[in-house]
Amino acid sequence: MRAEILTIGDELCRGEIVDTNSAYLAARLWDLDITTRWMTSCNDDVADMVDAMTRAVGRADVVVCSGGLGPTEDDLTVDVVSQLAGVEPVIDEPAKARMLERFGRLLAAGGVGNVEELTRIQLRQVRVPGGARVHANPVGLAPGFEVALRGVPVVCLPGVPRELYGIWDSGLGAHLAQLREARGDVERIARRIYRAFGRGESQISQACRGLVDDVAGASIHYQVKFPETLVKLVVRDRDQAAADARLAQLDEGVRARLAGIVYGTGDTETLVEKVTRRLIERGVTIAAAESCTGGMLGELLTRMPGSSKAFLGGVVAYADDVKVRQLGVAQATLAAHGAVSEQTAQEMALGARERFGSNLAVAITGIAGPGGGTPDKPVGTVWIALARRGSDDVTMKKLSWPGARDQIRLLSSWWALKLVDEQLDRENA
Ligand code: ATP
Ligand code: MG
Repeated sequence: MRAEILTIGDELCRGEIVDTNSAYLAARLWDLDITTRWMTSCNDDVADMVDAMTRAVGRADVVVCSGGLGPTEDDLTVDVVSQLAGVEPVIDEPAKARMLERFGRLLAAGGVGNVEELTRIQLRQVRVPGGARVHANPVGLAPGFEVALRGVPVVCLPGVPRELYGIWDSGLGAHLAQLREARGDVERIARRIYRAFGRGESQISQACRGLVDDVAGASIHYQVKFPETLVKLVVRDRDQAAADARLAQLDEGVRARLAGIVYGTGDTETLVEKVTRRLIERGVTIAAAESCTGGMLGELLTRMPGSSKAFLGGVVAYADDVKVRQLGVAQATLAAHGAVSEQTAQEMALGARERFGSNLAVAITGIAGPGGGTPDKPVGTVWIALARRGSDDVTMKKLSWPGARDQIRLLSSWWALKLVDEQLDRENA
């Protein structure tokens, strides 16, 4: 089943707002196994809207539109769709009743003009094309609706994202799933998302090469969400159990090939969330000693509610002098090896562990660029050290990844989290 998403609005076409509605709708449609084949945006202009809708119903099996359902003169969707369907706009009485009720409360609460004045303008946004199926808006005033144009269902939704999400969740999604089923010939989908960190997309895809080649209906997709990569495994079959079984079989293959790289599955838990959760669950405390990341690791480790149970604090030791005074790094170490070195990172981690009295301490020191690189320490050279209580054996990681400054800093912070995650695995073992 092929979908087209049509987003309407001058602001979109001027680049003043980013079209997040298309991304949301495409993801939700994909969940229903409806493939978005086209995404179109056009201005609040009758001729352009007629043109865009006519094209859309000429090639897609379902069209989902957003925008232009408000009360103002530039909100034209109801008029354009009515014109194309050869009907007149009518008032949607339930939506009108909700609107009057809301304005009644506003007036009672003390004074926005008079109700006639208000409703004359506002009535525009509770109109729908005559005969349309209404998709009620649980969040705002303008209802969504659906008409068939040349036999193709065209669904129109408000542009305001939270209203669009509200209409989807309160029944539109289920309705479109039914439309999908009613077409028959439905394929079932089994899918799993793996979250991978520690190798680049090309290495990850290389590692999975050939994995799905001989498996019927199976495909694998990669999405970079820097600094991690999402690996999406999909199996299609008429029979859900058969799809699930082949997915389970492939699951072993993915995990074996990406051992040490896949840290989780699903949409819910990122590496930051996983590490924080595990620290809290285990009652393990942690401190940070950061140079080139300037506190970013501390920021990540304080994102989750409850993180105070794990994160004790950190030092942003940017200058050499601060590394010495606040973390006890030896002058001699800095003189002999430099601030970006295995030895300095190690002493930073040990110093943080002592001064904060934590179970774990992570240190990061590196050259984020774009300047400051040398032939033996080019931009992207970062040392990360993880010290733990009761041992002077410090886990070290050296990065050499010549990216942009922001990316190097983010990557370094994530690697610090990864060292912690791996340490928690070892303690578990
Ligand atoms: P309104 O009652 O606010 O006029 P509407 O249904 O007419 O609602 P628009 O006027 O097109 O919708 O957009 C209202 C607001 O919703 C925009 O100012 C913008 O902030 C947001 N919006 C509209 N379209 C999109 C989109 N495609 N992606 C993300 N946000 C959007
Ligand atoms: Mg509008």
